[in-house]
Amino acid sequence: MEVAELVADVVVVGAGNAALAAALAACEAGAQALVLERAPFEERGGNSRFTGGIVRFAHGGLEDILPLVPELSEAEVARMDVHPYPAAAYTEDIMRMSEGKADPVLANVLVQNSYQTLRWMQSLGVRFELYQTAVRQGDRIYFPAGAVVQFWSGGPGLMERLFRTAEGRGVGVAYDASVVDLLTTVEGRVQGVRVQTPEGIIDVRAGAVILACGGFEASAERRVRYLGADWGPVRVRGSRHNTGELLERAEALGARIGGHMDGAHAVPVDAGSPVVGDLQLGDLTARLSYPLGIMVNRDAQRFIDEGMDFKSYSYTVVGPAILRQPDGIAYQIFDQQTVERLEARYTSGSRPAMAGTIEELATKLGLPPAALVRTTKAYNAAVRDGTFNPAIKDGKCTQGIEPDKTNWALRLDKPPFVAYGVRCGITFTFGGVITNEAGEVTHRRGTPIPGLYAAGEITGGVFYHNYPSGAGLMLGAVFGRIAGTKAASYALRR
Ligand SMILES: Cc1cc2nc3c(=O)[nH]c(=O)nc-3n(C[C@H](O)[C@H](O)[C@H](O)COP(=O)(O)OP(=O)(O)OC[C@H]3O[C@@H](n4cnc5c(N)ncnc54)[C@H](O)[C@@H]3O)c2cc1C
Repeated sequence: MEVAELVADVVVVGAGNAALAAALAACEAGAQALVLERAPFEERGGNSRFTGGIVRFAHGGLEDILPLVPELSEAEVARMDVHPYPAAAYTEDIMRMSEGKADPVLANVLVQNSYQTLRWMQSLGVRFELYQTAVRQGDRIYFPAGAVVQFWSGGPGLMERLFRTAEGRGVGVAYDASVVDLLTTVEGRVQGVRVQTPEGIIDVRAGAVILACGGFEASAERRVRYLGADWGPVRVRGSRHNTGELLERAEALGARIGGHMDGAHAVPVDAGSPVVGDLQLGDLTARLSYPLGIMVNRDAQRFIDEGMDFKSYSYTVVGPAILRQPDGIAYQIFDQQTVERLEARYTSGSRPAMAGTIEELATKLGLPPAALVRTTKAYNAAVRDGTFNPAIKDGKCTQGIEPDKTNWALRLDKPPFVAYGVRCGITFTFGGVITNEAGEVTHRRGTPIPGLYAAGEITGGVFYHNYPSGAGLMLGAVFGRIAGTKAASYALRR
């Protein structure tokens, strides 16, 4: 086999948010960085480009927010209801949602570096805007804890800015370049990668390699192997390229693989979503307004507390719950009290069923009408009086049905009724290679593998079971930056 050779100080595998943060940090530290991306140019940007750009960071309130969105007018600022989100609250969210399993050292690095990393990204040309799905009541805008700004123009805006800066600073980016293996010295130091390109195999020698090539959610075979048989047919919300081969190549070198290997982030999506993410749709397929209505399965039975928490804390529980229903399908039902409040993305994708009565709605959805009438009657009868307020966990609940709805429970009695079919869409996988706080990949012996770093969704250890929305991009940016800086200094020392 003829193998051409290239050389770089630092090779970064993948071209998503974590990868470009790593490459730009390596570049700032004086290293020559080369990014190798499996996707063709048109599909560049990984899952990061599919995102709505929500980003979660610790802050002390409005005075920390304003430097991120300097163009806001005084009138806009006056309408904002922003509460501080201290590091302790962020950490507590991660620990609570991971059921106490998140690695406290890594979680602390994420939280403590979150705000400064965003300011650093701003210095790279990244822009921010206000969180678009904040609750608007009267002339006030209520921001949920931790979600006050998002990347301007979402994932596409974020990635466009990062690519522009990377290219402007001389970071090399090769497309259609699929890394198939890691090259090592006899002592086990990583010294490069083997790349499949349309022209053949190329070996790239490097002082250090950073894996930032995402999880394995786009591989049906690995989903079944690691997550379980149910996960074979799930919809993939993002990139078709995140298939996880390098997880196993790293494991073959001795890397510790861990975290929540049989767990994944998955949410309700439009039942008509494509099988794998479509960049034209981006994150428009998500269907997250379920706290405003009820959800039933194919047998017209409710199966989950739709009001357990705000959507950003509950969506990862709701997605897999839908997957476990017969045929993996469910229906979100609303009436005229809440339908105007549905997220704007409900206007894209499959058209809803609409009907003046519950029987008629059931017939349109192909559900057993008598069962849906029974379910809604029982639900309506169980709704307690109280004040509905979507801006807070209002405690307006049902009592005495299984499952109860613990917040935002309004009777479904204002027709026409509107229903959307939903399925489970996988976002990313939780487990991966284990790194230390410097982004070095840890060997099963407990020591770092020399020359090998990782960042973003290929890593495991922080997210288990659930995660607070916006922490994925933040994790990639924080550890990408750290890994890039450390890898550069390691490579330049050699
Ligand atoms: C629809 C959707 C919406 C989301 N919304 C949000 C949100 O609003 N906020 C948030 O924080 N998170 C969100 N997430 C999660 C977020 O996308 C991830 O946490 C984050 O983008 C992961 O970044 P990454 O750089 O690790 O991986 P990616 O951005 O996926 O990048 C991995 C890259 O590696 C490449 N690659 C894979 N294998 C190879 C190989 N062998 N050789 C070369 N290249 C390879 C891929 O092509 C890809 O470009 C969302 C995800 C999806 C799918």
